[in-house]
Amino acid sequence: MTEILRVENLIKYFPVHGGFWGREIGRVHAVNDVSFSLKSSETLGIVGESGCGKSTLGRTLLRLYEADSGKVYFKNQNLLDLSKRDLRQMRRDFQMIFQDPNESLNSRQTVESILSEPLEIHGVGDRQSRKEVVKSLLAKVGLPESAGIRYPHEFSGGQRQRIGIARAIALSPSLIVCDEPVSALDVSIQSQVLNLLLKLQSEMQLSYIFIAHNLAVVRHISDRVAVMYLGEIVEITDADSIYSQPLHPYTKALISAVPTPDPSHTTERIVLKGDVPSPFDPPFGCAFHPRCPHAVDQCKREKPVMRDFNGHQVACHLAETL
Ligand code: SF4
Repeated sequence: MTEILRVENLIKYFPVHGGFWGREIGRVHAVNDVSFSLKSSETLGIVGESGCGKSTLGRTLLRLYEADSGKVYFKNQNLLDLSKRDLRQMRRDFQMIFQDPNESLNSRQTVESILSEPLEIHGVGDRQSRKEVVKSLLAKVGLPESAGIRYPHEFSGGQRQRIGIARAIALSPSLIVCDEPVSALDVSIQSQVLNLLLKLQSEMQLSYIFIAHNLAVVRHISDRVAVMYLGEIVEITDADSIYSQPLHPYTKALISAVPTPDPSHTTERIVLKGDVPSPFDPPFGCAFHPRCPHAVDQCKREKPVMRDFNGHQVACHLAETL
């Protein structure tokens, strides 16, 4: 499989203003020196607690937020170097699916108008041929042709997410960033939408970045998984290894909280102390040390670098001894 995306040392900080003059008084370290790659037709799951920076990472990759520094090579072109015009052209090849389709679907447009809009913007086909494309998009996501004349509010949450997916694939992209696409849906509907994403991936050779806080959902769909903590990736490996042999203490705690379907197979739940520290003022050394049950002095002084153990990468001073 060829590499489709390579992210190098990506940084996104948000300035915080305060005081009488509204000056910048600090920065939220939302995405802090993140690097990874993604192959064609591969799914990389990104997991972590709420506020760990995973959604900001997804948006910064696609330049919905401008990065402070780093590189995002998509098909060997650094997206961060592109002019607005070139970026607009390139956008047809990478899309986003949002958690709440209401955020991205205009309630005043019919579904047909929503789905034909990206085609119009990119000058694809004429009116008649766009109608045909819309019909085939609806069929691909399991909605009837009659859905085209209706409005988003006439559909259930799961159906609205199908419309969001149809819009994301309208221009036959190579890469889709899925930002918590099933978190707002009933559990019974979640697996239907996940299976739809898997079906479309195999039909269209799509690559996914799949962002979620639910590890069971990520496991279902991902080839590899990256675990984020306080704006940084702390562990990344294939989906099986991250669940069967997690190396980072934070990953171990996350996995221990996932219910297992087999009642005879119980694992001891690791309860972390305290809350996630503020990304405004992250701890020195290992950002996880105030909550880590294994922290030693070195963890407070030195930031652990990402190390490779046969393709399993982890940022922890004690990874080989825990
Ligand atoms: Fe825990 Fe230290 Fe490893 Fe950080 S580097 S995860 S504090 S053991």
